[in-house]
Amino acid sequence: MAKDLRSFLGELESNAPDELMRVKREVDLRYETSAVAERLGQEGRYPALLFEKVKGFNIPVVTNLFARRSRLAFALRTTEADLNRVYREREDKLVKPVLVEDGPVKEVVIKGSDVDLSRLPIPLHNEKDGAPYITCGAMVVKDPETGIRNVGIYRHMVEGRNKVGIHLAETSHATLIYEKWAQRGKAMPVAITIGHHPAFFLGVLSFLPFGVDEYEVVGALMEEPLELVKCETVDLEVPAYAEIVLEGEIDPTERAREGPIGEYTTLYGAPRDNPVVTINAILMRKNPIFLDVVNGHPDHQLLGGIGRLSFIYKMVRAACPTVKDVFMPPSGCCRLTCYVSIKKRHEGEAQNVAAAVFAADPFVKYVVVVDDDVDIFNDSAVLRAIATRLHADGGAFMVRNAKGHPLDPTARNEFLVTKVGIDATKPLKGFPETVRVPGSDTLDLSKYLS
Ligand code: MN
Repeated sequence: MAKDLRSFLGELESNAPDELMRVKREVDLRYETSAVAERLGQEGRYPALLFEKVKGFNIPVVTNLFARRSRLAFALRTTEADLNRVYREREDKLVKPVLVEDGPVKEVVIKGSDVDLSRLPIPLHNEKDGAPYITCGAMVVKDPETGIRNVGIYRHMVEGRNKVGIHLAETSHATLIYEKWAQRGKAMPVAITIGHHPAFFLGVLSFLPFGVDEYEVVGALMEEPLELVKCETVDLEVPAYAEIVLEGEIDPTERAREGPIGEYTTLYGAPRDNPVVTINAILMRKNPIFLDVVNGHPDHQLLGGIGRLSFIYKMVRAACPTVKDVFMPPSGCCRLTCYVSIKKRHEGEAQNVAAAVFAADPFVKYVVVVDDDVDIFNDSAVLRAIATRLHADGGAFMVRNAKGHPLDPTARNEFLVTKVGIDATKPLKGFPETVRVPGSDTLDLSKYLS
């Protein structure tokens, strides 16, 4: 059976029950689903949440699915320790999708004037979000020049019965393609997938270069070809085992106020005049599940970080072949801070590594490079390395007025930020040994505690 959202929820329930929490109590889409996720997060708990009863709807909502690395690892059938490596390795072995005649996503087809987004349980997440947002929609488009598909996740604010706003980031591949359609004076056909296996969403967020069909990365991550069906109203293909698909187009002359919205920075992004998607058809299963991401929270931060980490690693590896791993911790919003562990061979290598990270990802503002004995998935361990191994005079360097991200609240003139690289590696010679207690690793505690 093909991998999809419901097969994944079933696997969680049978193999990792702590990772999924079913909520049977009726909830309101207005702030309540995100409040449950937020409150659990305050207690350090990040289970996936399945809200079975949503007030006014007979469609359940799944959220917080991406809020824990252990679950992302489970989705790729690996361990947390191997997650980054497995993603990188599979990403390079693309698997082409296959076109099939029919699929469950076409059980219900709604077209024309029957299209009404208020049929879908779209949550309102944060106090000042401009409207309910579709936060986990994977939009496929086709390059009018080459016919090559591109898929990515963009935020969609509900603006009417058949309208959603869209933020196309300046650097996104969809923007390049949108501009090509606009030059031809044509609306860009789009299809937005809501609800699929988490590996699907991890795959469409790959940072492979322009011209790579992200559906092929999805196949690589799922270790099976993605099954696609043809859309009803546009010349595009969508996953046969999706829960819900919206078909539509973006008219290059149409714009509307979109935002504010809770962003990965945990701050609100200001409203902008952004393009608008007109929805012409809704495809869905008979009993669909709506997949949501809690924007401005770990669910959003971790999901968006994973493809970036793969690209950063590959760039760092060119500068330092003995790099062990890279991580953008939630404490840095999974974008602004990057930790790198290396097996240092030469003094000064850490500075080159930090420069490589800056070159790879303009979002990153602080890079901390540590030795390979430091656990970069643990903030405390990295802070201890800074406390004990950094000689700031020479070990830290600054890049002034570098290009950062416009959503970074410290950015001046739209995107200029000051970046800092930190070498928290110990010198190759003349550094004390770390304390160690012989036998502690293998000791059986149960023999001592009753
Ligand atoms: Mn792309």
